[in-house]
Amino acid sequence: MNTSTRLRIAIQKSGRLSKDCQSLLKQLGIKLNLREQRLIAHSTNMPIDVLRVRDDDIPGLVMDGVCDLGIVGENVLVETQAERERVGQPNAVEKLSKLDFGYCRLALAWPQELGQQSKDWFKGKRIATTYPEILKQYLAAENIDASVVMLTGSVEVAPRAGLADAICDLVSTGATLEANGLMQGETILESNACLIQNANLNDDAKLSLINKLLPRLKGVKQAKE
Ligand code: ATP
Ligand code: ZN
Repeated sequence: MNTSTRLRIAIQKSGRLSKDCQSLLKQLGIKLNLREQRLIAHSTNMPIDVLRVRDDDIPGLVMDGVCDLGIVGENVLVETQAERERVGQPNAVEKLSKLDFGYCRLALAWPQELGQQSKDWFKGKRIATTYPEILKQYLAAENIDASVVMLTGSVEVAPRAGLADAICDLVSTGATLEANGLMQGETILESNACLIQNANLNDDAKLSLINKLLPRLKGVKQAKE
């Protein structure tokens, strides 16, 4: 549990969500000194600390109450929730807002030379992914008996490397798939970054600070529309 009286927010340290997270916090009026490569950045004008970590760690930190808030892709959130559900760890969070950045889709793809394929083609195949729980749920719902190969990176090279027959990976423009000779199939999850809160947060001062930040967030989102 975060026993600090300062509101703790987890964001991605470096990656596709970092810049947007930093500019969002700035637009919310939270002044931070992010220049140093520190794990924690203290706000100079509000009782807020920002923890900069790998995106994969963000849902767990919020679910365990180590951080009060977090900004993370729904893809990582849904995967962590399913994984924790399976092993019986706490996985509840309150989703405060869907944000207007970090859009991507988790989609199936296979070697282009095979041409268009139906769902039946996946039966008995090996599918590489970083999102095994989401993929397994999809396969179960579609009644497809396929095996899932977990890879934490370079999923798009798995078919060429002979590690899998197909992949299930994040796509935004499709350029990476094309560059790797893959053809995009069904989308199994659409994702945006979202703001999540620890489900058991009951510190009045922190809750009232969050209640002050949320209308600002709404304003920032409306201004962009
Ligand atoms: P970390 O080192 O923090 O673990 P990472 O390499 O896992 O970083 P990034 O590639 O920076 O993660 O992606 C972070 C998030 O950005 C993704 O989980 C997803 O929500 C979002 N995203 C948006 N577009 C894409 C895309 N084309 N490919 C991958 N992720 C994307
Ligand atoms: Zn990651």
